[in-house]
Amino acid sequence: MNKTTGFMLAVAVAVGSLTFAVCAEVTPPIGKTQNKGGKIMIHELPPLPYDYNALEPYYDEQTVRIHHDKHHLAYVNGLNKAEEKLAEARQSGDFSLIQHWERQLAFHGSGDILHTLFWQSMAPNASKQPVGELAEQIETDFGSFDAFRSQFSQAAITVEGNGWAALAWSPDYNKLYIIQIENHQKQAVANTHLLMVIDMWEHAYYLKFQNRRPDWVESWWNIVNWDGISERFKKIKETASK
Ligand code: MN
Repeated sequence: MNKTTGFMLAVAVAVGSLTFAVCAEVTPPIGKTQNKGGKIMIHELPPLPYDYNALEPYYDEQTVRIHHDKHHLAYVNGLNKAEEKLAEARQSGDFSLIQHWERQLAFHGSGDILHTLFWQSMAPNASKQPVGELAEQIETDFGSFDAFRSQFSQAAITVEGNGWAALAWSPDYNKLYIIQIENHQKQAVANTHLLMVIDMWEHAYYLKFQNRRPDWVESWWNIVNWDGISERFKKIKETASK
C-alpha cells in the first residue's frame, strides 16, 4: 500500500457495497501522469512482516497464509481496479459509474490499509502491555489498561457482521477512542488515526475458532505488538496533534 495515504482515504470517501461492473475501453498508461487521466498508483501486497507460522499457537499458520496471500491480495487488486476505472472515467469524461467506483475505492482501499495495519498490530514474542506515552494515554482516557482491554474485547466480539475493532487517536479531541468498523469503512470516526486493529471478519479466525469469537480475541491479546503500536502512537501524536 501507499504508506503516505493512511486511513484518511477510508474516512474521506463514501460508504459502499460490493457489486461488479465491466467496462474497459480506455486503458490509460499505468503509473504515469497524463492530461485528463491523472496519476494512477499501483498498489502492491505488502509482505507479511514475519513468517507465516511466527504467531503460532495464537494465530495458526494456515489462516495467516490464506488471510494474507488470498484475502488481503483481493483488496489490493480491488483498489487497483478502482484507481484504474476512475482514471478511465476522467479521461473519457464518462462518470456514469462514479458512485460504484467510489464505493469500490472506499471498500478495497480501506481493506488494504486495515489489513496492513492488522499485520503490523501483531508480533511474535510480544510484550504484554503498551509502554511510554501510549500507556499513559490509555490510563488517562480509559482509566486503566484493564478497563481499556475489556472495552476493546467487547467492541471486537460484538461487531455486527463483518468488521473490525480499532484503537484510534483523535487529534481533534486529543483523545484515544475504541471504534467498531463495519465492513472496512463504515462507522469510522472522521480524522482519527488508527493505532491497532483486530480483524473480526470470519475469514480471520473461522478455520481455528469457528463461531467462538471471544476465544479468537483472547488468543489475539497474546500477540499484540505493543512495542510497535506504542511507537506508532508517539509518531502520530507528534505530527497530527494540534
Ligand atoms: Mn481480513
